[in-house]
Amino acid sequence: MRIAVIGSGYVGLVSGACLSDFGHDVTCIDKDERKIEALRRGEMPIYEPGLDSIVAGNVKMGRLAFSTELGPAVEVADVVFIAVGTPSRRGDGHADLSYVYAAARELAQSLRGFTVVATKSTVPVGTGDEIDRIIRETNPAADVAVVSNPEFLREGNAIDDFRRPDRIVVGIADERARQVMTEVYRPLYLNQAPLVFTTRRTSELIKYAGNAFLAMKITFMNEIADLCEEAGANVQDVARGIGLDQRIGSKFLHAGPGYGGSCFPKDTLALIKSAQDLGKPLRLVETTVAVNDTRKRAMARKVIAACGGDVRGRKISILGLTFKPNTDDMRESPALTIIQALQDAGARVAAYDPEGMEQARSLLENVTFGSDPYDAAEGAEALVIVTEWNAFRAMDFQRLKSIMATPLLVDLRNIYRKEEIRPHGFAYVSVGRPAED
Ligand code: NAD
Repeated sequence: MRIAVIGSGYVGLVSGACLSDFGHDVTCIDKDERKIEALRRGEMPIYEPGLDSIVAGNVKMGRLAFSTELGPAVEVADVVFIAVGTPSRRGDGHADLSYVYAAARELAQSLRGFTVVATKSTVPVGTGDEIDRIIRETNPAADVAVVSNPEFLREGNAIDDFRRPDRIVVGIADERARQVMTEVYRPLYLNQAPLVFTTRRTSELIKYAGNAFLAMKITFMNEIADLCEEAGANVQDVARGIGLDQRIGSKFLHAGPGYGGSCFPKDTLALIKSAQDLGKPLRLVETTVAVNDTRKRAMARKVIAACGGDVRGRKISILGLTFKPNTDDMRESPALTIIQALQDAGARVAAYDPEGMEQARSLLENVTFGSDPYDAAEGAEALVIVTEWNAFRAMDFQRLKSIMATPLLVDLRNIYRKEEIRPHGFAYVSVGRPAED
């Protein structure tokens, strides 16, 4: 099949590369010339494990190409994926659909013959209807089926998620699209990934409902963690104890500094706004967002309390800046809020992240970036783990003790246990685990 992917970011590039790896003929398109030039040179514009070799292999086989022009690729395409960003609209939290609608308007002019236009971007319920309308208005002769095909991949594990999805959801309003989309995903379908066909509106809502549920699950455990600290219980044991119940499941029960990233914050907000507009407010999701918002600064207060209540003029070292490991994505990362709150309290902040520092530099002011965890920890009065990169899981605490001003570890991801840390002479504070535990 011939496929055009509009938008070559985390989702578009990974999807395009993996679809070409299935044997399809794919062109990834982006307005950002620097991104396309870098891709043509074989350089990845994002950090995603395994992506570079898939891109290189398929470019070599002639199945994957990059372009800033969507016309030529759309003209010959059987399927055009829209994978542009849908950030929060400034001011009101609704999804900003301007990139999606611009892409729809632009691609409409190049449609030739029957074409499926599949929206991979996360969009509010009803957006498919509007894309359909825009395409028909721009090009009344277009023979098009607009489908919703939300993407569920996770950054940091994106290739594997794309190749081995729990399910593929396709929302259709035109029966002809069923066969085309089945053909696109045939290799996965043969691996028995369930292909869930539904209506376009239902498909759009599945994506938001899924993300809101996961955000709620995380936030629930974070509140339970706070309760554990007060009650002298251990949140990890609570998580294990409830997670073994198959109705609950063991995933996404890790207490931490609050969710962030490019999806959960904006998608929960957009869902809240859609629901309010439809006169059916989602109060559980509204509360989830409110609880998560306050949690990040609360984590900074936890650090300040661990430092004895005052950090003015003192150096605090942050390990991990990205919203999760194995990505360079800094969008809505809890580290941003935590660092700001520490700076507001007068702290001097140093930081280290294996992949996120380039993006972080443009988002953070007055932060000193270390060349490794030890460089960042030099002279610090507290070392704070914000993101659980593997590189932080086996640190040399003897060395850290010798270079830090005060041996204090605040582990906001619970990657250590106090029995491992205290023998090195460190004070240890974690999330949802009693100090004596
Ligand atoms: P991104 O910002 O990394 O990439 C979007 C790309 O689209 C950018 O490179 C931008 O230059 C390009 N673009 C914008 N308008 C364009 C146009 N008219 N023509 C060509 N290119 C254009 O975004 P992302 O993280 O890949 O997310 C894309 C969508 O997928 C969003 O709706 C997001 O919610 C959804 N999603 C993201 C993830 C994730 O983990 N990042 C997972 C599932 C779904």
